[in-house]
Amino acid sequence: MSPPLRFFESSLTGWGRHQQSSCHVVRPESRAAIGEALRVGPGPILPRGLGRSYGDAALNTGGSVVDMTALDGVLHFDDTSGLLRCEAGLSLERLLAHFVPRGWFPWITPGTKFVTIGGCIANDVHGKGHHSQGSFASCVLSMRVALPNGELREVSRDADPELFWANFGGMGLLGVVVDVTLRLRRIETTFYRQRSVPVRDLDELLERMAEHDASHPYSVAWVDPLCTGKSLGRGVLTVGDHATRADLADHPSPLRLGPPQRLVVPAELPEATLNPVTLRAVNAVIRAMLTRGGQFAHYEQFFYPLDLIKHWNRGYGRRGFTQYQFVVPRSGGAQTLRAILEAIAASGNLPFLNILKHLGAPSGGHLSFPMDGYTFAIDLPIRDGTPALTRRLDAMVVDAGGRIYLGKDAFMTAESFRAMYPRLDEWMAVKRRVDPEGRFASDQSRRLGLTPRL
Ligand SMILES: Cc1cc2nc3c(=O)[nH]c(=O)nc-3n(C[C@H](O)[C@H](O)[C@H](O)COP(=O)(O)OP(=O)(O)OC[C@H]3O[C@@H](n4cnc5c(N)ncnc54)[C@H](O)[C@@H]3O)c2cc1C
Repeated sequence: MSPPLRFFESSLTGWGRHQQSSCHVVRPESRAAIGEALRVGPGPILPRGLGRSYGDAALNTGGSVVDMTALDGVLHFDDTSGLLRCEAGLSLERLLAHFVPRGWFPWITPGTKFVTIGGCIANDVHGKGHHSQGSFASCVLSMRVALPNGELREVSRDADPELFWANFGGMGLLGVVVDVTLRLRRIETTFYRQRSVPVRDLDELLERMAEHDASHPYSVAWVDPLCTGKSLGRGVLTVGDHATRADLADHPSPLRLGPPQRLVVPAELPEATLNPVTLRAVNAVIRAMLTRGGQFAHYEQFFYPLDLIKHWNRGYGRRGFTQYQFVVPRSGGAQTLRAILEAIAASGNLPFLNILKHLGAPSGGHLSFPMDGYTFAIDLPIRDGTPALTRRLDAMVVDAGGRIYLGKDAFMTAESFRAMYPRLDEWMAVKRRVDPEGRFASDQSRRLGLTPRL
């Protein structure tokens, strides 16, 4: 017999640590217990993974939060096809530990391994290879979703395809994804062949990115936040591909796992440490690391450099930070990127880290973020004017025909959201069908008008 479910009143935050939320949290230890949590949970319900969304996507003030991290089992694996069936609370970290030594890797991975499969679906996450490989939806075959009425429904491209696609970018608002069948990628080694290309300005950066499109499945650029005017966009483009056994003929363990986290930020740093001097120092270190990266990089350095430091988000101090991530179409994209970076520089807010990637064709997810274009992610420590600044930037993104990533969003208004996501009405129709009473909600969904305000 499974132990009785217990809800604990807990204070939760997003990864940006600037919104605190008091929620009733339950951590089911069996898939059967999810149904009970939906039945007895007080107030609106929301599933949660490892809390790596930056804003309020995984917060549900006054309501129930179903912490999925105990449901992390591997249910079945086919070593020939790479098809994995697993519980949705499985993290990429555990998946890597289990499958990397056997020569398998996640098909798509975001920039941290501390995410669950359920979280990857809810945000339809993308990695450095979106232009060549698509978003997380491209590796998912089917999933079972616990619906608000207690039904457990299997969905796929053929079985209730509308609900299947609505879950990619569905932000946990359509039910709890309980288990998933997805495809893994066969790898010969855990290393990546990489090349660093320093660039002088934004035009050169976009040109080099386009040049390497066909030859390299992975690409990402660090853009120096201190460069303005003519040198705006100066940075380092890193492109890469999987290293083969032949590339690493002399390597003693080509399927080596990464090291455990050794460095830790033990407590919140004082706000005064975030100043132009530290901004310069941090970005000088990043530039040096990128330009001297070597020909081969282990996947930890290639995909997850920030994971090496535990609790790095505490470095932004008591008020936390936001990551402003948007995508704009390629055509006219350079002008919008330039205008947004100039607006941030003029505002006096210090952008600590600027990352540019390009995205390819969208998935079928109604509210999925990726669309053909350039995506820029900018880390901004929270200051008094930050919400107003991001809303001004939102208007520029809307004008350019782009959108904000809901996994990073913290301050967007319902009006901007509606203007950015043209398939919102289709998604709302699915929401009304599976959740007519609006049982599933989050702080973000109320802010964006996806569910009524309390
Ligand atoms: C350092 C860092 C780097 C990142 N890099 C990238 C990147 O390169 N690309 C990218 O796309 N994203 C990136 N992200 C964002 C991250 O991938 C997403 O926010 C992801 O959704 C987090 O997964 P999680 O398990 O922590 O989910 P949470 O943050 O806990 O929840 C996110 C959403 O998923 C829903 N959810 C969680 N579990 C379930 C479930 N079982 N069923 C239904 N809904 C569920 C929640 O309700 C919530 O709406 C990054 C984040 C960090 C901190």
